[in-house]
Amino acid sequence: MLRQVAEGVWTQESEFCRSNAVVVQGRAGVLLIDPGVLGSELAELADDLRVLGQPVVAGFSTHPHWDHLLWHPRLGVAARYGTARCAATVQARLSDPHWQTRLAGLIPPGIARQVPLDLLGLITALPPEAARIPWEGPQVRIVEHQAHAPGHAALVIRERRVLVAGDMLSDVLIPLLDLADGTDPIEDYRVALRLLEGAADGVDVFVPAHGSIGGPDQLRARIDQDRAYVDALRDGGLCHDPRIGPTATFGKEWLPAVHERQLRHLAQRRERDGASG
Ligand SMILES: [Zn+2]
Repeated sequence: MLRQVAEGVWTQESEFCRSNAVVVQGRAGVLLIDPGVLGSELAELADDLRVLGQPVVAGFSTHPHWDHLLWHPRLGVAARYGTARCAATVQARLSDPHWQTRLAGLIPPGIARQVPLDLLGLITALPPEAARIPWEGPQVRIVEHQAHAPGHAALVIRERRVLVAGDMLSDVLIPLLDLADGTDPIEDYRVALRLLEGAADGVDVFVPAHGSIGGPDQLRARIDQDRAYVDALRDGGLCHDPRIGPTATFGKEWLPAVHERQLRHLAQRRERDGASG
């Protein structure tokens, strides 16, 4: 079900991981950002847009993770954009002959049959350092950084006073660092949070890819919360983050283990760098 969050901007929340799809009204149709996860939800979104008489004229994936790369035939054949780095990463992963096996290891088995993979990752690369999404509608500025995934993009729709944060600033997920690709994942994350902080002025509504949508005060609080978490990881120390604490309402079965894994990985990295330096 579409929910209006600003003038000309709607979201639809998925059952999977509280994912938010974002729809932006343009001149002759809509821009669809991170469309969703389950086939039935994508079809419902396509139906709702049809009832509204709004074809999808452009798509965008905030980053190259499977749950942000899905599509449905009924959403049409508009170009689906990503940053150059995002598109190159998707391309590299899809050209691996074992990609379907790898992907099967990432999608929770309970929903695997409901996730339509046929159109996964058909991303058109924007030029490197592209500043905006090319489409007929309110200007959408790309804030690219390397936290969480290569070529991750947050989006600022200044005219609508909306920030689309991608996989950051969530109230349910702790910062998930890109431990596979980055050479300095902590610093990459800190740089990205500074960029988001710089983009926060004039934002009335921000939409994280997973979790609750919020206003300007929550935006500042989430930036602070993510920074405190990342700093705690960096210092290898205690972390009192509510998202993995006793009062957490989401991901109790798996998020604490992800946190432990990040801590372990970074400790090993420090040891290795210490040994080589
Ligand atoms: Zn992600």
